[in-house]
Amino acid sequence: MCLKPIPKELQEKLEEKLIRYELVRQQGKYNMLDKKARELTGLSEAEYMYIVSNYEELMNKYPYTKAKVKERLNYIMSANLSKYIAINGCEKCRQQVCEKLDVSIDDLCEECKQKLKQDTSPLFDTGT
Ligand SMILES: [Zn+2]
Repeated sequence: MCLKPIPKELQEKLEEKLIRYELVRQQGKYNMLDKKARELTGLSEAEYMYIVSNYEELMNKYPYTKAKVKERLNYIMSANLSKYIAINGCEKCRQQVCEKLDVSIDDLCEECKQKLKQDTSPLFDTGT
């Protein structure tokens, strides 16, 4: 399938808008056809629907979008993780977080992992 003509309003800052869409998608928390998902992207309905229905073609055209978003999400998650552990973690994990810049959930002890999973605060607030 080839890419349908991109609507004029979407052409402006297209890559940035794709990134906003992809940020919500990669979090995997939302059905992308849900209105809530669209609200999180901040895109208009027309822009959003265009991206949904031309997703594969757009990702082929802008192949770095997925990797960029992945990198940004990792960074956000790591920053949030550090913040969370600095406040709620055990002594050992707090030490880990202090020494390591890019902390992942695998660096934590079982107890802190569990605590983190049960926490319902918006850990992955992407701030977009
Ligand atoms: Zn711990």
